[in-house]
Amino acid sequence: MDPLELLSEKLSRPWGVVSHLKGVRDSDALRAAYDECQPEVVAASLRIGQSRPVYDAMVALMADADAWTSLTPAQRRAVECEVRDAKLGGVALDGEAKERYNAIAKELSALSTAFSNNVLDATKAFEHLCETKEEVDGLPRSALELAAQTAATRGGHEGATAEDGPWMFTLDAPSYMAVRSHAKNRALREKCYRAYLARASEFSPEEADNAPLIEKILALRREKARLLGYDTFAEVSMAKKMATLESAEELLENIRATSRPAAERELEEIRAFAAKEGAPEAETGLTQWDVGFWAERLREAKYELKEEDLRPYFQLPAVIEGMFALAGKLFDVDVRPADGDVEVWHPDVRFFAVTDKKTGAPRAYFYLDPYTRPSEKRGGAWMDDVVGRSAAMAAPGSSVRLPTAHMVCNGTPPVGSKPSLMTHSEVTTLFHEFGHALQHMLTTEDAGPVAGINQVDWDAVELPSQFMENWCYDKKVLKQIGKHYETNEPLPDDLYDKLVASKNFGSGMRYLRQCHFALTDLELHARYEPGVEGRSVFDAEREIAKKTTILEAIPEDRFLCGFGHIFAGGYSAGYYSYLWAEVLSADAFGAFEEAGLEDDAAVVETGAKFASTVLAMGGGVAPLEVFTKFRGREPSVEALLRHNGLVAASA
Ligand SMILES: [Zn+2]
Repeated sequence: MDPLELLSEKLSRPWGVVSHLKGVRDSDALRAAYDECQPEVVAASLRIGQSRPVYDAMVALMADADAWTSLTPAQRRAVECEVRDAKLGGVALDGEAKERYNAIAKELSALSTAFSNNVLDATKAFEHLCETKEEVDGLPRSALELAAQTAATRGGHEGATAEDGPWMFTLDAPSYMAVRSHAKNRALREKCYRAYLARASEFSPEEADNAPLIEKILALRREKARLLGYDTFAEVSMAKKMATLESAEELLENIRATSRPAAERELEEIRAFAAKEGAPEAETGLTQWDVGFWAERLREAKYELKEEDLRPYFQLPAVIEGMFALAGKLFDVDVRPADGDVEVWHPDVRFFAVTDKKTGAPRAYFYLDPYTRPSEKRGGAWMDDVVGRSAAMAAPGSSVRLPTAHMVCNGTPPVGSKPSLMTHSEVTTLFHEFGHALQHMLTTEDAGPVAGINQVDWDAVELPSQFMENWCYDKKVLKQIGKHYETNEPLPDDLYDKLVASKNFGSGMRYLRQCHFALTDLELHARYEPGVEGRSVFDAEREIAKKTTILEAIPEDRFLCGFGHIFAGGYSAGYYSYLWAEVLSADAFGAFEEAGLEDDAAVVETGAKFASTVLAMGGGVAPLEVFTKFRGREPSVEALLRHNGLVAASA
């Protein structure tokens, strides 16, 4: 297994760097080089994954009782997972079937790249300039500053200011979300909403339409499944997961049925509030581009909490310092800046070292690329590995190679002389990615193929990340990370109380929407017939929507054309994983609640247990077993529904 790991790294490490740079520092030249190399990379990966001699050797190893029992349980799981993956990678196929399988894999990979390039291009192509103050009424100062900056750097309006404009809006998340939630200008909200939903579709002004790509992707995935002896692609996906199609759909139905009445109540409350405020649209019925705006106004009225009120308290440097302190307390590590030790791809990128608190021994390293850079960096936030922990890859003279991670966010950049001031949701995203990074970095498993996040089932991989999000509502943590950037005053109690009170605001709609995405994904991969006249993917989505939405979609809704998670990412027939893992993470945080969040010693003890199971074992132990070792029982959905106010806390 060790020589295999060495071989694979020769390809995966440099290609990892290229893929990473494509995500954070895209350019025409890089894209051209990437597209040129990608088919060869896919071919080489397939050759390694489909090597019959390697497969036969692993099968023989499993059959050799003496050799097999001499391996550690984690090493055994590494082999078992490899054999399973090799089968799913078509290794058992011969002749024509194998050739066809390889052709499909290549084509799917190119289609995914084309899909996400189309989305990126469509996102970049949209811009809307506002020149009068009336047009930007309601938008918070931070959004106006960003819009003025965009007008200057992108629109060539050199003297643009937040006060006097002009202001340029785009479909990048910080700009789009601000318009959606705050612009009083209904026409502006509608324009941005329609453009967002039409990205890379027949309704977008650009030529590229992702709809035919979606049909091709689904048809090829189905064909691939049949070659492997499965009926549908959903079955192929589930072969590597903790859930089955049945258990996933059962869980989603459970959450959907609980969320829907809550969502209906929420919408009615929003509508009534808009009517009370004299909004004419409340009489004709709120549209998709009204709900976000009025929900935010209702939230402010109900909790007197503006998202923007919190922003001055969350300056990035203090937030990361507090986040590192929390990790230090829970998991017995120190995180220290190590900027300058390595080369970085942009001056904003930071580099950190993680060491053992008691011994001072190094444990891991990570990069943090915090801010949005629309012209070259893709949207969203993610964690990726640079290298993983591995004994086989240890440098001469050391026993193990330590892990290094990338953390990439798209937060609000510093504007002028102000530091980056974050919304609470940007803070949560940062904690989320840090949770992924912690699982990658704090593994104690030396078998590279199952260390850290390697071979952690997809539907369990969000456990540590979503677990970390829970701390963004913990009072002690918020007091530590929330310090006013001018006065250094900690987050006041009344703001904290409002934040907690407003946490579950809109959770019915939120969970219903997640159920919509997840059920649509499973429908498309388990039952939809690609290429059959008369029922498009959009029709299939509409049918699901009857159960999962409470607002009518606009006829030209082409959300699926931008749904990169399932058409250009790893979440195909796996979007449900977010909710599945949320059940696990809510239940895991429940262990801390039971121990007593006010009781430091109990929190530290529970943290140590979390570190020695969930963070340490990585993919070396099956996820259900890891969870059961930590929690003392199998996961329960109760904590998730309770945390989100969907069921009352039991007495
Ligand atoms: Zn995640």
